[in-house]
Amino acid sequence: MNKDSRIYVAGHSGLVGSGLVRALESAGYSKLIRRTHGELDLADPHAASSFFETEKPEYVFLAAAKVGGILANDTYPADFLRDNLAIELNVIDAAFRNGVRKLLFLGSSCIYPRLAPQPIPESALLTGPLEPTNEWYAIAKIAGIKLVQAYRKQYGFCGISLMPTNLYGPGDNFDLRTSHVLPALLRKFDEAKTNGAPEVVVWGSGAPRREFLHVDDLASAALHLMLHYDDSEILNVGTGEDLTIAELAEMISRVVGYAGRVTFDASKPDGTPRKLLDVSRLHASGWGARIGLEQGIQRTYEWYLAHEALVANR
Ligand code: GDP
Repeated sequence: MNKDSRIYVAGHSGLVGSGLVRALESAGYSKLIRRTHGELDLADPHAASSFFETEKPEYVFLAAAKVGGILANDTYPADFLRDNLAIELNVIDAAFRNGVRKLLFLGSSCIYPRLAPQPIPESALLTGPLEPTNEWYAIAKIAGIKLVQAYRKQYGFCGISLMPTNLYGPGDNFDLRTSHVLPALLRKFDEAKTNGAPEVVVWGSGAPRREFLHVDDLASAALHLMLHYDDSEILNVGTGEDLTIAELAEMISRVVGYAGRVTFDASKPDGTPRKLLDVSRLHASGWGARIGLEQGIQRTYEWYLAHEALVANR
């Protein structure tokens, strides 16, 4: 991939896509191709195919997806399965048919079995039942991995798949009904501080363990792997460290400067008990995460404060 290669970032306005655009631009890649969802519906096969025929991208980062937190996944199973299957199939097929030189597909750590060994090695894929709260999204992402592998096996198409852990950072979704835990708690603690509320309610028991990666770290890893990784095996991307949701709430409370209590709402689902990725193959590729969790939360909180009005009106 050269500095003047035609690079399509699918999903460039989302959390991951915008992180990829920042990383590519600051590394000097000058021919980035982007389309908003309004301009191009990747779930429509004709639209996807004619876009590739016209624009002829050489490299593709497939970061377009329908994403959401535990409640959104559980509430809209058909949307999560249908939209993600359609986007993956249309983009991967159009990329192959239009001579794309390399495609990088982003999966998710929720593709692994609910009770996978921890930390989770890539070899745990398809070895046991999935976590029911997000199996729809997980099945779609597993199909995406298999599409990439099948096009490589049958046609020699150069596609790679990365499995990022839970991501966060600037541009995240802060809508409390559909967001993931980290942005949800940032918003809840900030609003409680502003309103002088005596307590913040955290969903579930607080006991599940999660690993969090800043999106700028993910973008840096994706760029590194687009340049240096070429294999049909999936590759985990994480920090290698996790913490409980209760510990995360404590850290966010500290960053926000909230003085009240934290309580837990056991009527909300916990989801999978633990989801820590084994990052030994990632480290062997020569890349490791740089942004510490508390520092990353601080940076995300600053972004949230600067964009609060925009975020609240979404
Ligand atoms: P998951 O990693 O796929 O389970 O997705 P989430 O990021 O949505 O949730 C992670 C964990 O955080 C679950 O145990 C949730 O119950 C818990 N959690 C605590 N408070 C919240 C909240 O306000 N929003 C969300 N989405 N999750 C929360």
